Amino acid sequence: RAGGAMAEVAAAARAVEPPADVDSDECLREYRHLFSPDILAGRVAFITGGGSGIGFRIAEVFMRHGCRTVIASRNLQRVSEASKKLVAATGQQCLPLSIDVRQPQTVAAAVDEALKEFERIDILINNAAGNFLCPASALSFNAFKTVIDIDTIGTFNTSKVLFEKYFRDHGGVIVNITATLSYRGQALQVHAGAAKAAIDAMTRHLAVEWGPSNIRVNSLAPGPITGTEGYRRLGGKFAEGANLFDKIPLKRAGNKTEIAHSVLYLASPLSSYVTGTTLVVDGGSWLTSANNFPAMLGIASSSAK
Ligand code: NAP
Repeated sequence: RAGGAMAEVAAAARAVEPPADVDSDECLREYRHLFSPDILAGRVAFITGGGSGIGFRIAEVFMRHGCRTVIASRNLQRVSEASKKLVAATGQQCLPLSIDVRQPQTVAAAVDEALKEFERIDILINNAAGNFLCPASALSFNAFKTVIDIDTIGTFNTSKVLFEKYFRDHGGVIVNITATLSYRGQALQVHAGAAKAAIDAMTRHLAVEWGPSNIRVNSLAPGPITGTEGYRRLGGKFAEGANLFDKIPLKRAGNKTEIAHSVLYLASPLSSYVTGTTLVVDGGSWLTSANNFPAMLGIASSSAK
């Protein structure tokens, strides 16, 4: 009896701990299903930027729930290597393809190839993006444009290609990975903040126009996520060292598995009546984290060294 009670306490403690993750672009060493393991059985997901970071973990978690995936980004070698790891860890199919989301014809060719291979695409995850810290005064015209091109225009290009080639006739689910940067005008992030705010607007516009075609469109805005390029480039290590994550209500950075679980919710039938919204997955970070311009400049220059 006492042993049973102890086991219950241990299980309850595990339930509030964050799920395990690994920092590199490798698959999880162990995985415990919280959602039904077949919640995405028979589905196919097209994930941009699925060869690294958050996109890689989204692909893995989807595949662990019965989904076949297409992972697509510019670097074919990167997505091909990622695909081998994902297939080995999950036993599901994964097709690696090369696209540049800025060029609609490359996306169209990849979607044609994916449809030839799998005969359907049910889910689109617009995750590809580029970011770096830079004050507006030092940001070149071209740097601002490049971030808008990849994030905002890339998201539109990919969504429209999928709509025309499959979703218009069959329905579908789109999840756009955005950010909380614009909510308080985050210092050094005018480019990415503006780009992601435009995507959140697009989420609402497309939810309205495409809802009648049985297409749900939502955004997911992560906070600081460990084991990612974003974390490395945007001063995550510095924030860790300076105990800045103590300011976050949940007192820590998040991990890629936590983002993947929330994306899984938005992509699955569990969210069948959810559209046109942004799910913030940041431990409450944007409400309380630092946004002091001179202090952020100092962080940027010390983490660039
Ligand atoms: P990441 O590993 O750098 O992922 C970005 C991916 O996008 C890469 O796989 C890259 O692959 C691909 N990509 C870049 N430009 C592309 C293009 N023109 N066409 C096609 N693919 C392109 O970064 P991450 O940190 O995991 O970020 C993933 C998403 O989460 C992004 O949307 C980011 O804004 C968002 N986010 C991240 C954090 C965080 O803490 N990490 C916080 C908030 C929001 P190739 O180089 O092969 O093209």
